[in-house]
Amino acid sequence: MTKKSDKAISFNKNFKARTTRQHALSFATCVHCGTCNDSCHYYLATEDPEMTPAAKMDKIRQVFKAQNDWLGKIAPKWVGAKEIETDKELEELKDIVFGSCTGCRRCTFNCPFGVDTAILVGLARSCLVDEGIAPEGILHVMDDQWKIGNQMGISQEEYLETLEWIEEELQEEFDDQKYKIPIDKTGADFVYVINPREIKYDPRPLQAAFKIFYAAGLDWTMGSAGWDNTNFGLFSGKPDLGGHMGNLAYDHAKKLQVKRMVISECGHGLRSTKWEAPNWGKANPLPFEIISLLELMVDLINNCKIILDPSRNPYPVTYHDPCNLSRSCGITEEPRFCLKRACLDFREMIPNRADSYCCTGGGGAMSMSEYTQRRLEVAKIKAEQIKPTGAAIVATSCHNCVDGLSELIKEYDLRYDYGDGKTKLLAVPNVCEVVAEAIVIPKELRRVVRVPGEEIKGKKILVIDDEPDFVIFLQTLLEDNGFEVITATDGSSGLAKAKEEKPDLITLDITMPGKSGVQVYRDIRLNPDIANIPIFIVTGVIDFRQLMYQKSVQAPEGFLKKPIDNDVFLMTVNKILEKSVKTKKAKA
Ligand code: SF4
Ligand code: SF4
Repeated sequence: MTKKSDKAISFNKNFKARTTRQHALSFATCVHCGTCNDSCHYYLATEDPEMTPAAKMDKIRQVFKAQNDWLGKIAPKWVGAKEIETDKELEELKDIVFGSCTGCRRCTFNCPFGVDTAILVGLARSCLVDEGIAPEGILHVMDDQWKIGNQMGISQEEYLETLEWIEEELQEEFDDQKYKIPIDKTGADFVYVINPREIKYDPRPLQAAFKIFYAAGLDWTMGSAGWDNTNFGLFSGKPDLGGHMGNLAYDHAKKLQVKRMVISECGHGLRSTKWEAPNWGKANPLPFEIISLLELMVDLINNCKIILDPSRNPYPVTYHDPCNLSRSCGITEEPRFCLKRACLDFREMIPNRADSYCCTGGGGAMSMSEYTQRRLEVAKIKAEQIKPTGAAIVATSCHNCVDGLSELIKEYDLRYDYGDGKTKLLAVPNVCEVVAEAIVIPKELRRVVRVPGEEIKGKKILVIDDEPDFVIFLQTLLEDNGFEVITATDGSSGLAKAKEEKPDLITLDITMPGKSGVQVYRDIRLNPDIANIPIFIVTGVIDFRQLMYQKSVQAPEGFLKKPIDNDVFLMTVNKILEKSVKTKKAKA
């Protein structure tokens, strides 16, 4: 018998201790009938028998059999029973449970016995994580949730400053200088709990939700703590982290004495916060109700608290059902109710609801850059599902899905023809953004790009991008808005100009010949002279996650996917520069 490695011994021990009756039921019930094979996007896309749910689970099941099955103990080879023995086997298992399964549970819904593959994956993930054998991104995010309380390591200062910035934007949009985003309001009807991505990288869904709350005249508040609804306890299989994140949110909501907690559009956020974390954190019963923003919007539309004009969304819209919402929370009709009232042409994707395919970004996959290529390969199943809808917009209700769908739309070049030869990649908003676009509010003003404030006017911006046309475009846009612009069309000269000119902001492309954007980014961050210059990634590839989820360098201050929306680009530039000026003043 091979001598087991220390990590293998520890893994096997934890596996045995953590196997519950729920796991045993799924381990023991699978009869390898193959009914679920066609449920799995990994198998459908690759046609590799090793990618069928049963084959993948057999790699976990062999440990269960060795530890619990009497036949596995007396004739292990006969029944394929075997504990993990080497570090190499642990790495192979990592590849399966992190890199080949998003825990989407589509196979469970198609299994005649209801075998729950995702909980078996969770069990294996938790034991691997304890040995430090997991994608770096997962370990990094877990660390941030434990230590800082949110998955993107956002400081309290950054969180509050971003809300303040959004407040100023909305004051202009509403033409209402008295508009305030309430923070820590005691006794409000509800506290709004969000995905940190909305603060760090894409405030549009937050602005949309706030616009809806404003139009409906709701009594609500943001919390200064416990505001992250995401939970890597679910993706890592670690209930202790799951309970910690849940309790951060519950404790603050209790302190504020709110009646309800409303979860922004995040599939696993709703599942974790509403259904799993109360048990993980031993927080039941909670003294308030938890609902999704989707449920709140249905109520507001039904009761005429908001008025929608669907003609403002004239292009065809389809809906992608996030796995956690449809299969684990039963939320399928609410988004359709909202979209059918907020746009003129709603089209179903086939299959849909609990039978929809995963966007391929679930299960924490978006933070595992090592599996990007495989993920995009299997994403062809989802691309083939989207294409026949002929939609211009793929609305969804989850931030992971927004990222997963955006990447595959780019990879498979899914476009809508707007006529006159103009085609654009399909847009992927959350449902609240479509609703907010249609909302009619008194004295409504069209969203205006904020004119740069006096304190940031004339700031020097270095544009680094290898596409000369795009450089000229950004230069013109920025100069027209009062900034000074210097440019570079490759990584090496960009780095040299950063050192020489010390600009106030750098916009940086990622894919460039020679020195790539990732190398330039690292070189800047590791050079104390220029490390603090804010960097705004503007790229067509999604490798920025390699930067976001790395511990060794500070995350970029902003990112935007090409093709860019001019308004969003300028808004982000303004936001980054204003925050940088404030930080410098505070330090002075
Ligand atoms: S998980 Fe269910 S459907 Fe799939 S092979 Fe096993 S018994 Fe059959
Ligand atoms: S949970 Fe989803 S990704 Fe995992 S094996 Fe089942 S169908 Fe495939």
